[in-house]
Amino acid sequence: MADTTLMSIPGQVDPVPVARDITPREDGRVDLIGLPKDRIRELFAEAGLDPKQAKLRAKQVFHWLYHRGVTDFEAMTDIAKTMRPWLTERFVIGRPEVVEAQHSTDGTRKWLLKTADGHEFEMVFIPDADRGTLCVSSQVGCTLNCRFCHTGTMKLVRNLTPGEIVGQVMLARDALGEWPKGSMAGLDEAEDEGHYTSDGRLLTNIVMMGMGEPLYNFENVKGALKLVMDGDGLALSKRRITLSTSGVVPMMDRCGQEIGVNLAVSLHAVTKEIRDEIVPLNKKYGIEELLQACADYPGASNARRITFEYVMLKDKNDTDEHARELVRLLKQYKLPAKVNLIPFNPWPGAAYDTSTPERVKRFSDIVFEGGISAPVRTPRGRDIDAACGQLKTSAEKKSRAQRDREAAEAIEA
Ligand code: SAH
Ligand code: SF4
Repeated sequence: MADTTLMSIPGQVDPVPVARDITPREDGRVDLIGLPKDRIRELFAEAGLDPKQAKLRAKQVFHWLYHRGVTDFEAMTDIAKTMRPWLTERFVIGRPEVVEAQHSTDGTRKWLLKTADGHEFEMVFIPDADRGTLCVSSQVGCTLNCRFCHTGTMKLVRNLTPGEIVGQVMLARDALGEWPKGSMAGLDEAEDEGHYTSDGRLLTNIVMMGMGEPLYNFENVKGALKLVMDGDGLALSKRRITLSTSGVVPMMDRCGQEIGVNLAVSLHAVTKEIRDEIVPLNKKYGIEELLQACADYPGASNARRITFEYVMLKDKNDTDEHARELVRLLKQYKLPAKVNLIPFNPWPGAAYDTSTPERVKRFSDIVFEGGISAPVRTPRGRDIDAACGQLKTSAEKKSRAQRDREAAEAIEA
């Protein structure tokens, strides 16, 4: 089992086990993935390097880890040959373990991954003509039990660590062959002129839309995204990263201030009655409060709109009136908004059906006529259960009654 500490999370009754920043390993070595440069420097100093050396080595190692993607200290060619075994004795460069990799007929890829202490989680890569999006998980399971979401039927096992979150991005770069060529041992520097070789589908965007609620794991998500955005690290622009929340209002401002990525909000309904039913967190943070937090979101502008996700559930939230009310609300709060209409992706035992394509089209037209862009998101990777809301591993399942009970308790808390 991982060494964990207990931390209480808003809206959550029981404390959720959270792995420490450094998960102790049986061999006593420390996994550097997930650690910021300063923390690496500290560890080098604690292991005996003088402050100047520790700083220099941390800078070099950081670059090799996050910019070049090496997984072996021997490949760090600008570090003295004698220094490399010193590093290998004390540190490791980890990746989440791949349990299974699947390829959809539409090019979507899904990986079932495993933490060092045996918990399974998933990530998905979705290639498009002009971009490649990695859908990253933040938790194993989710406590929030949205009625239409398969992940919500999983028992939350724990938050993922920064290393396990950034590790997904690194693993995707490994799998897509997207590190600069020179990162591979044996190739000389002359060959390293930014040849990002992939199968033509580069990883250009990241969405925190895999398993879990990222704002219930704020610190770890923040730590991981800082490494993704670091110019000396994975160097992805914050404009290419989107965090999706089901509406954890108290953490939204900090998300904008401290992480600064694009925001997506899982709205899904425009009346209290319906949203209470399908997104139970609404009983705690209602629609008005949520939209006000969106209006106040730091950095949102017409150039950087907030995405409102709206899952289309047949005869539930998909009428013309709902569409008009959606436009009215978004205008009332003067939101720089775009709406993403997601046809419901069914899963066995789900209580809902997908709206008909005609209904989705009509809904989209009404929102569009209201002056707000409302594209319909084409489901991707359905044949490998990689589509939105389908991510669920074989981890422990909860009964419906147990989930309802927990949702009620979470809301009262
Ligand atoms: N917990 C966060 C992010 C993960 S869910 C959130 O809820 O926003 C990512 C998106 O998939 C959310 O908009 C979610 O509502 C949507 N989703 C979940 N289950 C779905 C399903 N079965 N069909 C379509 N979209 C779904
Ligand atoms: Fe959790 Fe998001 Fe699924 Fe709701 S939609 S249960 S918040 S993962």
